[in-house]
Amino acid sequence: MHSVCVYCGSRAGADSAYADCATRLGRAIAERAMTLVYGGGSVGLMHRAAEAALAAGGRVVGVTTELLMRREVAHQGLSELHVVQTMHQRKKMMADFADAFIALPGGLGTLEELFEIWTWRQLGYHNKPVGLVNCEGYYDGLLDFLAQTHEQGFVSPDMLGLLLVDPDPQRLLDRIAGAQPVSEDPWWRMRESI
Ligand code: AMP
Repeated sequence: MHSVCVYCGSRAGADSAYADCATRLGRAIAERAMTLVYGGGSVGLMHRAAEAALAAGGRVVGVTTELLMRREVAHQGLSELHVVQTMHQRKKMMADFADAFIALPGGLGTLEELFEIWTWRQLGYHNKPVGLVNCEGYYDGLLDFLAQTHEQGFVSPDMLGLLLVDPDPQRLLDRIAGAQPVSEDPWWRMRESI
């Protein structure tokens, strides 16, 4: 595994523990000699993760759009910064660059990116691990709801199990690096097991 795409808030959040998680994840990615791929901004948790990876001597690749480059103040010190036209191009480029995906605490943009990449895996568009850092229990409510999606017969346990969840960024990274790729298209098997 050579690169990890990190999805996270363009804000720092109400608890300083979130920034600490972002810092620890960015540093851990760099210390494992992996490239950090992210949205290219210098705001919020995005900034913390990118700065920590750079400070640890890591390679950081940003992918942004012309519009977001102004709104999220593109980071000028990255190893590479790609500026594309549309959000669809941005998401595809981030997904193509990465061997795995990890979401930290964040807002609607983070949730959208996490669910998109997770459902792309469900559909077999990629075969890369997806993880969630449940920093300070930020995602407890979401995880409860996800359990309900299974209890109510909409999502299989196999599908839920594709999302690796851990409160500790370093441990999650190790679990993701050790995750075995699923060679078959999981779609039909998962439908059967609902
Ligand atoms: P947020 O979690 O809302 O602070 O956003 C974090 C990142 O998600 C930002 O860099 C946004 O550009 C990005 N993002 C991706 N898709 C979307 C979307 N559909 N709506 C808003 N932000 C998005």
